[in-house]
Amino acid sequence: MLSSLSLENLMIDTQYKYAPDPTLDAERLATFAARIEQHMQFRRDQLAADMVPSPGHETDVDREIRELLTRAARTALSELRAAHERLSDGTFGRCIDCSRQLPTERLEALPWVPRCITCHRATATEPDG
Ligand SMILES: [Zn+2]
Repeated sequence: MLSSLSLENLMIDTQYKYAPDPTLDAERLATFAARIEQHMQFRRDQLAADMVPSPGHETDVDREIRELLTRAARTALSELRAAHERLSDGTFGRCIDCSRQLPTERLEALPWVPRCITCHRATATEPDG
């Protein structure tokens, strides 16, 4: 049953869902872009360093740790690249699954997060930052 009240709620919800966030102005986007680029550079440097085995004999454990770190850095870098693309195509700040505006606190903490907390929990396998 669709009462007028629930229809009204639906409309408010839709409005909220697609309304642009007025606090995400050019200045703040530039700040997020700078942070994302900074982290991309950090991950690239990390990957470059991880590719090179430490001098001397490398044990299986050493190699395994190096491979784990490399994999984590690659995952982080691809997440950062995706966030960078969202900055260019204008979808930055929205959840990639439900399109809702991401809470400001979440963006401030980790500007490259792709999903809102609800969708993030639903996917659950992805590292958060
Ligand atoms: Zn979502």
